[in-house]
Amino acid sequence: MAIERTFSMIKPDATKRNLTGAITKMLEDAGLRVIASKRVWMSKREAEGFYAVHKERPFFGELVEGMTSGPTIVQVLEGEGAILKNREIMGATNPANADEGTIRKTHALSIGENSVHGSDAPETAAQEIKYWFSDTEIVG
Ligand code: GDP
Repeated sequence: MAIERTFSMIKPDATKRNLTGAITKMLEDAGLRVIASKRVWMSKREAEGFYAVHKERPFFGELVEGMTSGPTIVQVLEGEGAILKNREIMGATNPANADEGTIRKTHALSIGENSVHGSDAPETAAQEIKYWFSDTEIVG
């Protein structure tokens, strides 16, 4: 399988509970390498822009509120089949449906406070990486 890059976030519900290291370790233990990372406190505008695809959904306001309620760790992950691998280690969107051993099963509180984000396809990975990082911030 090809080496890929994907975009990941450790969301405010998790950074508030001091889980940055614990979640990053789960990503690394799954074979993913953190090749860029920074801590940001998203503005409302940044959160609305990032999640624009969901703007008509009933939970959009709650989503933006959650994402602007504390710091987020934005990361670029690299590894073999990184996009799918990251989705697998994250687990299902609703932690109640997530498999044992996944990040969301282990740490998430609810569907709205589900601790992590990961790109779902190569096109969205490229877009999302570009949304948060310049090329010089990705250092391999
Ligand atoms: P993901 O790719 O697994 O993160 O899921 P989606 O792209 O479908 O949704 C994006 C994010 O919106 C999720 O991670 C949740 O934080 C949030 N979300 C999705 N569905 C719901 C919902 O029904 N209620 C609430 N409160 N948040 C939701």
